[in-house]
Amino acid sequence: MQNQLIQNYIGGAFSAPAAGRTQDNINPANGQSLGQVVVSSAAEIETAVHAAKTAAYAWRMLPAPKRGEILFRAQHILRQRKEEVARALSLEEGKSIADATGEVQRAINCFEFSAGEGRRSFGQVIPSELPNNLIYTRRIPLGVVALITPWNFPLAIPVWKAAAALVCGNTIVFKPASSTPWCAHLLTEILIEAGIPAGVWNVVYGPGGSLGDALVKHRDVAAISFTGSNEIGQRLYGLGAAHNKKVQCEMGGKNAIIVLDDADLDLAATAAVQGAFYSSGQRCTATSRAVVMKSVLSTFCERVVEKARALKVGPGTEPGVQVGPLVDSKQLSTVLSYLDIGKREARLLLGGSRLDGALAAGYFVAPTVFCDVERTHRIFQEEIFGPVLSIAAAEDEAHAFALANDSSYGLSSSVYTRDVGRVFRYIDLVETGILHVNSPTVGGEAQVPFGGLKDTGVGGREQGTTALDFFTEWQSVYIDYTGTRRTASFY
Ligand code: NAP
Repeated sequence: MQNQLIQNYIGGAFSAPAAGRTQDNINPANGQSLGQVVVSSAAEIETAVHAAKTAAYAWRMLPAPKRGEILFRAQHILRQRKEEVARALSLEEGKSIADATGEVQRAINCFEFSAGEGRRSFGQVIPSELPNNLIYTRRIPLGVVALITPWNFPLAIPVWKAAAALVCGNTIVFKPASSTPWCAHLLTEILIEAGIPAGVWNVVYGPGGSLGDALVKHRDVAAISFTGSNEIGQRLYGLGAAHNKKVQCEMGGKNAIIVLDDADLDLAATAAVQGAFYSSGQRCTATSRAVVMKSVLSTFCERVVEKARALKVGPGTEPGVQVGPLVDSKQLSTVLSYLDIGKREARLLLGGSRLDGALAAGYFVAPTVFCDVERTHRIFQEEIFGPVLSIAAAEDEAHAFALANDSSYGLSSSVYTRDVGRVFRYIDLVETGILHVNSPTVGGEAQVPFGGLKDTGVGGREQGTTALDFFTEWQSVYIDYTGTRRTASFY
């Protein structure tokens, strides 16, 4: 519901922080308030962790298939509320209704996949070197886990973390991004309706700095699953290590589409435009670099510009809009500063400015294309997180792969070629956690591990069955059924 006051959810009840502060939740398409959200402090983290700890024993003792049933119900409720949630997401984050609907579907899929893990989180029976001795392993939950998430996928990322954590038997304190509390609130409503017990799911709204520190340092928080920027993630990882926490950080990307000289250029240009500009480039897997062999460079650039020029930019909720606003004024000024840098470093082919006229009240930037980009340029190396594509020329296939690898990030990449040998050399040589062949750098499925190499990710993959590795510990159980004293000894 629009114009409501969004409150914390702690111990099974909505509540306002003691200090009673609130802030506006801003629609990035017009700068107007969508409602209010409470601003919490470390005191509310203390209350939420206490509630999560109190609920932990009963939740871990509930059989995993029963925990899965709650997630199945959540999946069902979200499916029924799909349109309403997609609209809220679009209003709050800015992405188009089509992108928002896709995100809601991803969240549905994540609920569905993790729910099934309740019947599948197997251990192993391991042969013993001793007679009449049974050895097996089992997964156990970590206890209270903290989830800290960004605004760019305000529903799907919380769901893919929470569904895995919950089915494993953990209780949660969730700190959503300050720009997207409405999505967090809708998710909370859905989990409540699905039957989540009091204290298992707790949400605290407020600034990442103070709440994040309180969570990471708290002695009763066993693990932190974070998605966001490298700046925050690296700091949080170090702080977590200093407090003996298990920490998972999924961070930035600078994803390249590689276009070889035998590619279907129209398909490649369509993928580059979709990957660079949909969701206004605010996807961790967005295509922010194109590495293109020289012989096809000018044709590729022409097609990209033609397709990018045809994009409809506007409020995400308007029919037919493909590119919405940036999420807030801070993101707008970051992107505008990179447009200035890009104009100094390279050649501007399209866009390059903020949009005014009917869109002046929102945070809109024109889809922007730079060419003649060099590997040393900042727009080639740094994550911009806006609708900006930097195109660099490659001499040959080996040079193209080397340029794609010339990045501290390693989240996603894609190659366009019709040659099967080139496909397999790409898979062998390009250093990203996700590789796409003849499809855009964006996208992924709920049952598949998700995450990056190099500076993008530390602490293990999310989604798929690999998510369980983060949200559980292994126990090894030895059962001696000889009834006698052992003659052999353990070393
Ligand atoms: P961010 O500024 O790092 O914020 C992420 C979360 O951390 C927010 O909830 C934020 O709270 C919180 N936070 C801020 N300061 C903190 C601190 N000192 N300690 C603990 N938490 C703190 O990132 P963002 O701007 O929201 O998101 C964009 C970034 O996320 C991009 O770099 C993008 O590539 C990355 N991302 C990565 C993936 C992936 O899977 N690899 C997926 C999506 C996004 P506040 O909102 O209150 O500041």
